Amino acid sequence: MTILDGKAAAADIKAEIAKEVARRTEQGLKRPHLAAILVGHDGGSETYVASKVKACGECGFDSTLIRLESTDDAPLSQDELMARVQELNDNPDIDGFIVQLPLPRHIDEQAVIEAIRPDKDVDGFHPVNVGRQSIGLPCFHSATPAGIVELLRRNGITTKGKRVVIVGRSNIVGKPLAAMLMQKGDMGDATVTVCHSATPNLVDVTRQADILVAAMGRPGFITADMVSDGVTVVDVGTTRVPDATRKSGFRLCGDVDFAAVSPKCEAITPVPGGVGPMTIVSLMMNTLEAARRHDANR
Ligand code: NAP
Repeated sequence: MTILDGKAAAADIKAEIAKEVARRTEQGLKRPHLAAILVGHDGGSETYVASKVKACGECGFDSTLIRLESTDDAPLSQDELMARVQELNDNPDIDGFIVQLPLPRHIDEQAVIEAIRPDKDVDGFHPVNVGRQSIGLPCFHSATPAGIVELLRRNGITTKGKRVVIVGRSNIVGKPLAAMLMQKGDMGDATVTVCHSATPNLVDVTRQADILVAAMGRPGFITADMVSDGVTVVDVGTTRVPDATRKSGFRLCGDVDFAAVSPKCEAITPVPGGVGPMTIVSLMMNTLEAARRHDANR
């Protein structure tokens, strides 16, 4: 059984990106510049944004973190957030930017996503990028699916002719991953089934998987009886579960019962250290690509 080590793969990719950034600066090209807007102080979002800023440093990128306060007494207005998005759209030094999700409930999240210029949308959430991806055109791929595909590729796990079952149909994981894996060509050509909460007899479907992707946010949901021998399992789930033995007071828990499922697997991702680091590194790859595209217009 192979552990699909996302942390190690991400370290390799960051070193490759840093080399290219060094080459770029030798040629007089600017460093890629990623900006992030963080609204409020959600614990998970703080951690994700801090990891992204750290990864920028490791890749030799410039990074800008824009913190916007929003409290019950003084909620951030939609107009103020849209204005900050527009500033980043118009700033020629910024190659790509993200608005860290989730946003406070009173904010229209979809309107914010659609306000981001598609050529700076390094999260790959804008409908232009989603649409281009679904028909196989060059675009910014959504970071988590792109990271999963890269992790499989780097571990020599092909998808051609494989039966892939994805449990979870979110716009950021399940749907874009299905679109990527069903494309013609390298790391595509899979037969993909997407399951969700209305799927009857889920176990009958998951047992057919050559590659099973769990993206539900239900800790330990995938049990040993739900997989067949020789399966490759990708666990996207990252739920914070209270754990008094940890300094933080919680641990990250995947959607797969790792101890019971892993003995049946040919390969499996751990949580943490599997998909998570690959998601962050995909964002870095998209930012580098955005900088390459902007070079022509500077
Ligand atoms: P999400 O928006 O939370 O949606 C969960 C999906 O799982 C939905 O499609 C839901 O079905 C489905 N689901 C829930 N319970 C189910 C059940 N009992 N049987 C079948 N399907 C069920 O999904 P997400 O945003 O993709 O997040 C999923 C998990 O991945 C979370 O733990 C999140 O933190 C994690 N995540 C990790 C990374 C990373 O980089 N590691 C990135 C993104 C997300 P319905 O559509 O029918 O409700």
